[in-house]
Amino acid sequence: MQKGHCLCGSVQYEFDETQAAMKLHCHCKDCQRITGSGKATVIMFPQDAVKIKGDYKTYASRGFDGSHVNRGFCPTCGSQMFTFVDEIPSQMFIKAGGMEDTSWLSIDFTCWTSTARDWLPADDRMPGFEQNPAA
Ligand SMILES: [Zn+2]
Ligand SMILES: [Zn+2]
Repeated sequence: MQKGHCLCGSVQYEFDETQAAMKLHCHCKDCQRITGSGKATVIMFPQDAVKIKGDYKTYASRGFDGSHVNRGFCPTCGSQMFTFVDEIPSQMFIKAGGMEDTSWLSIDFTCWTSTARDWLPADDRMPGFEQNPAA
């Protein structure tokens, strides 16, 4: 099991890193906006491989493919940590930046290379998708 938390520490989580399903960088405009940066690095897990302690809030929006995306963040410090997509209810995503130890982690691919910024280009050492993979 691995751990992570928000900046202020009021939301803590644990996850079984061996259950990581997809490990990716996303350069979509929404990820850029919510991170305030050029991309988000997100790891998909089965929801039952993750335990969350503390109260987070979610913000609901539509994904570029029409999916219903709920982004979980700490209401005190604003750290973005989780993403839930209604269309894939058994899974969730955790942003890698809040994880304590990521020595186990390697990223498989990049998506939304079509909107990557010139100042943070998509990593060309891994497969890239112009939009969501297989969407
Ligand atoms: Zn916090
Ligand atoms: Zn994105």
